[in-house]
Amino acid sequence: MSETKIALVTGANKGVGYEIAAGLGALGHRVGVGARDEARRASAVEKLRAAGVDAFGVPLDVTDDQSVTEAAELIERQAGRLDVLVNNAGISGEMGTGWVQDPTTLDLDVVRKVMETNVIGVIRVTNAMLPLLRRSASPRIVNASSTVGSVTWQADPNVDVGPIMAAYAPTKSYLNAVTVQYARHFAGTNILINAACPGLVATDFTGGYGRPPQEAAATAIRLATLPDDGPTGSFFNDEGVIPW
Ligand code: NDP
Repeated sequence: MSETKIALVTGANKGVGYEIAAGLGALGHRVGVGARDEARRASAVEKLRAAGVDAFGVPLDVTDDQSVTEAAELIERQAGRLDVLVNNAGISGEMGTGWVQDPTTLDLDVVRKVMETNVIGVIRVTNAMLPLLRRSASPRIVNASSTVGSVTWQADPNVDVGPIMAAYAPTKSYLNAVTVQYARHFAGTNILINAACPGLVATDFTGGYGRPPQEAAATAIRLATLPDDGPTGSFFNDEGVIPW
């Protein structure tokens, strides 16, 4: 088996995903840049290659079965296996005034759309990539979550968790719960799966408010490169473990 680790980062054309791809590339990984838009994907691959990363484009819409199947086929052809899957692609859904999603007036189509991307998309991609991950000597899966998905913190009046986001936040709680189910299923194997919160990051997602995405990629990169005795079924940010 070749020494070079093969990684796939979903939603890697910009934001935190791009920086996770760049960071894994800097560590010597060969990186599949999962992105749904052809032009944005090509430009990210070009930029990563210019920075010395061994990057290749992976057409990928996480909400589309066929796209995900074809992405797995492409990685099989390109690399024959997968060592690292970072499920980074995510959306907030339309936000109301003050960046609030009021539970009492939620548009159910927004809820469905955010669920389809942030939860079902992760399950779809993970299951499609599993046969390739199982060929790795040290498979690692990282799910991009958020502290707003911590039900413990959301329910604690002493913790500042920002505005009410009744469509987005529960998708990250659900994703966390799904992460635990996968970890239970993978118990006793070499597959480690964890959830990572990047913190509040200055990307298109937040309208540019927050810390630099380069810094925010660190937790996901750490979890993507855990040693075999590393944690699994946990939820981390830069400071350590976040309560569910
Ligand atoms: P951005 O909006 O900057 O980037 C999101 C990425 O996801 C883009 O590449 C986007 O592609 C991609 N994407 C969205 N939908 C799909 C889809 N259906 N198929 C494939 N790719 C898709 O967001 P961030 O970088 O800020 O966020 C990355 C992750 O981190 C998300 O999961 C988010 O929930 C999480 N997060 C972010 C925080 C923040 O403060 N920014 C805080 C906590 C968590 P395209 O360009 O085509 O739209």
